[in-house]
Amino acid sequence: MDREPPTKPDEPERCVGVDVGILKFAHDTDGFALGSLDLADERNRLDRERRKLSRKEHGSANWERQRRTVAERYADLKRKRRDFLHRVSAYYAREYDLVAVEDLNVTGMMEWPSNSRNTASAAWGTFLSLLEYKCEREGTHFVAVEPAGTTKECASCGVSTDKPLWVREHSCPACGFTADRDANAAVNILSRGLADVGVVHSEITPSETATATGTDVSTVPASRVTEQGSPALNEASAQARVE
Ligand SMILES: [Zn+2]
Repeated sequence: MDREPPTKPDEPERCVGVDVGILKFAHDTDGFALGSLDLADERNRLDRERRKLSRKEHGSANWERQRRTVAERYADLKRKRRDFLHRVSAYYAREYDLVAVEDLNVTGMMEWPSNSRNTASAAWGTFLSLLEYKCEREGTHFVAVEPAGTTKECASCGVSTDKPLWVREHSCPACGFTADRDANAAVNILSRGLADVGVVHSEITPSETATATGTDVSTVPASRVTEQGSPALNEASAQARVE
């Protein structure tokens, strides 16, 4: 994506790094993890209506009526996904002075399961543009960082270690630092984001931030965001930070 070079914010107090993924939708440097949106029910409903459509005589009045139903189910699914992305991006733009995320990581995505890759990358792209737009509206600094190696790099010492998708824990062979895989990545994303805008933020010490979140982070289900709206997201993140 083409972007203006980031400008240096004046003393951002609340900074966050957000790792966007597939098993979890987001994991941030404040120890908040949000599950992926499960749209299986909506997909099943859409498939059922599509099957009904295929049994109707093409062009008939019944077929035309069913075609409209299929379109509605499809719109439901898209609306639900977009609504989720709106709420999550609004939360980060509102709660923070600076939000660092990875720019779309096309190479990294090849590690993801192929059946979910297209949907997940589309959601990620939409999330990034919504986040950028909402941050601008709220006067929050948005930084999209270089995505290569954020998962492999140790947030404590910087040494890179290969880590397949199924390895959920970061355990550094060089310095012994351990953290949840995505928590470690989130710290790297925030460090890169702060470096990109030239902010030296003494309060952010990678090892402390990630250690505080531990390797056992409870993930808030995405349904809490879609069913109860944005306030639920604030409560859930506050709760996750206390735990
Ligand atoms: Zn290390």
